[in-house]
Amino acid sequence: MSDRRERTRESESRKLLGRLRDTMAVEAAGQARLDRITHLTADSMGTEVCSIYLFRDDETLELCATEGLNAGAVHETRMRLGEGLVGQVARYGKVVSTPVAPAEPGFRYMPETGEEIYSSFLGVPIQRLGEKLGVLVVQTRDSRDFTQDEIYALEVVAMVLAEMTELGAFVGEGAALKARHTQPVMFRGSVGQEGTAEGHIWLHEPRVVVTHFVTDDPETEMARLQAAVDDLRVSVDQLLADTQDAEQIEVLEAYRMFANSKGWMRRMEEDISNGLSAEAAVEKEQSAAKARLKSVADTYLRERLQDLDDLSNRLLRILTGQGRETGAEMPDDPVLVARNIGPGDLLEYGRKLRGVILEEGSVGSHAAIVARALAIPLVINTGNITNEALNGDHVMIDGDQGIAHLRPDETVVTAFRDKIAMQAQAQQRYASIRDRACVTPCGERIELHMNAGLMADLPSLASSGAEGVGLFRTELQFLIRNKMPKRTELVDIYSRVMDAAGDKRVVFRTLDIGSDKVLPYMKPADEPNPALGWRAIRVGLDKPGVMRMQLQALLRAAKGRPLSVMFPFVAQYSEYAAGIAEMDKAIEREKKLGHLLPENITTGSMLETPALAFASRRFFSEVEFLSIGGNDLKQFFFAADRENERVRRRYDTLNVSFLTFIEDIISRCRETGTHLSFCGEDAGRPIEALCLTAIGLRSLSMRPASIGPVKNILMRSNLTEVKAVIDNARNRGEQSVRASVMEYLGSVTGRGNSAR
Ligand code: PEP
Ligand code: MG
Repeated sequence: MSDRRERTRESESRKLLGRLRDTMAVEAAGQARLDRITHLTADSMGTEVCSIYLFRDDETLELCATEGLNAGAVHETRMRLGEGLVGQVARYGKVVSTPVAPAEPGFRYMPETGEEIYSSFLGVPIQRLGEKLGVLVVQTRDSRDFTQDEIYALEVVAMVLAEMTELGAFVGEGAALKARHTQPVMFRGSVGQEGTAEGHIWLHEPRVVVTHFVTDDPETEMARLQAAVDDLRVSVDQLLADTQDAEQIEVLEAYRMFANSKGWMRRMEEDISNGLSAEAAVEKEQSAAKARLKSVADTYLRERLQDLDDLSNRLLRILTGQGRETGAEMPDDPVLVARNIGPGDLLEYGRKLRGVILEEGSVGSHAAIVARALAIPLVINTGNITNEALNGDHVMIDGDQGIAHLRPDETVVTAFRDKIAMQAQAQQRYASIRDRACVTPCGERIELHMNAGLMADLPSLASSGAEGVGLFRTELQFLIRNKMPKRTELVDIYSRVMDAAGDKRVVFRTLDIGSDKVLPYMKPADEPNPALGWRAIRVGLDKPGVMRMQLQALLRAAKGRPLSVMFPFVAQYSEYAAGIAEMDKAIEREKKLGHLLPENITTGSMLETPALAFASRRFFSEVEFLSIGGNDLKQFFFAADRENERVRRRYDTLNVSFLTFIEDIISRCRETGTHLSFCGEDAGRPIEALCLTAIGLRSLSMRPASIGPVKNILMRSNLTEVKAVIDNARNRGEQSVRASVMEYLGSVTGRGNSAR
């Protein structure tokens, strides 16, 4: 672009922005402001028409102001997303520019607007941080091409419009728009942790509000931007120097790359010379990156665009001085909202949180693990809630369905409170049986234990009525740290766990890393299929240093008390035997050092690979106890990845093939007198727990919150009857016994012998 053209473009654009700013400064009703903007834009751009279309709801755009089209069409003309050229701009978030609009595919003529006399059309999206707000259009009678400069100028106006919308500039008497952040919105995500809660929003990263977005002093703004970017670079370098976390280093390297990116800087400088303030320029680029994020499928690229978004937020905080400390006070009943959150940060908030809502996240993420330990309802994958929610907004979170109701209306509030009250009643029922042993009406005694992994889990031992910890996932302590814990730290943790458990048994499972559990400070093995890869005991035996440290720490932590240890992911006898050999060596070492040994040591194995179910009798005789890891066992049995949303719920646990397989394991353990338990997630689901006990399991380990509901159903159920129902369904050739069992439960409830 020539210097002269550049200067002309700058001054035109700046002039227009200056006029827009003056419009903002005048006290006026929302509609009057919109009218004025269309007038000014058409005037500055030399077009006959300028129109603003805004979203009425997710699918509908409405003509909200126009210069040039029939005034009677304002608030009357509506179109659906994707309909006509305007609808296409909105749907794809892309500019449409054409000299002859009626010749374009998808063109739709709106007779009430009188637009038939206009030929050329330029439409740009009005969007803010990835959120679509509407479309800004100019049209002319002459058939002509719009220049890049004109397109750019209209985009800048659209951006300022988006900012003004966010600030509520178009709300008021004769309002064109409803006030932002005031409407009820429902976010449908996925279940991270069950449970319901009501509370008020607390944003983990408070939103930065840009109030100053137009300037007529580009030099000062340029200097502000430069100074802020310099600060940013220093802080990123500092963070890099302070971290050892491989994942964090990757992110920070990406930050550094963007912070030094000439293209990014040049685009922002261009925006400033065209009349935007430094912060508006940052936000414009941030919005563009967010818009791109929506259409990018590549995970790596998405992560980098996400990094750019984070970096922009940092830069905005530096520029606006709006740090984490915004002066806002955390509500008494906070529901945390974040794009994502690390386990350390979540633990720091702790139990004071009523609920957590994340835009991203996954069921197996560390944040989800911590939320489960803290028994806080968690909804993940909600998308966009950080843009919509404001600190202090009322929110109801339904972790059972994976739904969050932001600013719910009266009907939702009433229905939701009824649900919470019913759950509270159920909790009372569970509390009343908490201290009783779980014995079924047919006289079977079932042991109910809990799964744990963090210190935060331990208080649940008393509150849930669990008889012990059937599975202590030791890897969680490794996962939430950013460096490998030392042996002394492990001794301290394990001994505190045993202290907290008192005389209740804790089964410590040695490190189960790999697959979905990647230690942040260990270089991830680049494997084609990590779930079938180098994980758990395979890592433990190939690199025995960590396993040795762990076994030694466990022996020391016991301080003479009984100790139970189990090995994860054993696929054949020799792996178990090698684990035992490591344990024997560790005992010998402790003896030599003169340390006190546990009063007794029991060692067992997880059964989570189908192969182990067919191991030799020798294995079943030697192993002191077995615990079925149903999560893994089921994924390998059905060849369906437990982390893959598409297939993880595809096969029913109550499928007769799977139940028959479990029955075979039970009978093999009976033959050798091996204690058998089941510790996968299914153990905590009442119907599944009922079927597992009906086919012969006598020990289950589950998340603490499930103990009440499971105990409740078991204490009301006749297992012999349920077993008969299962056998009949199987004999009839049913694929899953679920329907038959549910029908049976319905009939016994009808007989007044409630099984629920
Ligand atoms: C399992 O696989 O069922 C299990 C309990 O282990 P994890 O969920 O930790 O893999
Ligand atoms: Mg497992």
